[in-house]
Amino acid sequence: MTRLIFLGPPGAGKGTQAKALADHWQIPHISTGDILRQALKEQTTLGVKAQSYMDKGELVPDQLVEEMVEERLKQPDTTSGWILDGFPRTVKQASFLEALLQKLDQAGERVVNLDVPDDIVVARLLERGRKDDTEEVIRRRLEVYRSETAPLIDYYSSKAQLLIVNGNQSLEEVTAELAKVIS
Ligand code: AMP
Repeated sequence: MTRLIFLGPPGAGKGTQAKALADHWQIPHISTGDILRQALKEQTTLGVKAQSYMDKGELVPDQLVEEMVEERLKQPDTTSGWILDGFPRTVKQASFLEALLQKLDQAGERVVNLDVPDDIVVARLLERGRKDDTEEVIRRRLEVYRSETAPLIDYYSSKAQLLIVNGNQSLEEVTAELAKVIS
């Protein structure tokens, strides 16, 4: 049973690594960013509510994302495990998740922290060129990451659930290190 949470700044390579592992284990890769971007594209109520936050590089309010994750984790395909990518992003979301996993009888998750220095992340994201990847928005997303999300590193480390991987190496090297720490 594999239940993994990926932490790390935007551009750390979380999405790529999480997706590859999920394919390998045949478990769902649950990316809150992907779900929100799809909702935005379809202009659903959730998408319309989330848009202004996403455009600015701010976090979408906890409650909206929490409801979305609860609905997703209740789907039948999650019984064999999952990889969460982009959630939780605040301490509040982390305690919500902890209670939710207890309630759904899905506890026992591990957390991977993929860390990369800011200047490397900015360069990578500018190269990627997604619509919400202008330099101003990227810098804002990083600030938000450091202030809102990075505290989760201590949060999970104090619960002894944290695995650390150096994200500042080639994709293949990250994959290899990741395989080693989660085996
Ligand atoms: P990502 O693809 O994970 O970088 O997410 C893109 C954007 O979606 C973020 O900049 C946020 O605006 C929003 N988002 C994704 N996940 C969350 C979350 N867990 N909490 C709040 N906002 C989120």
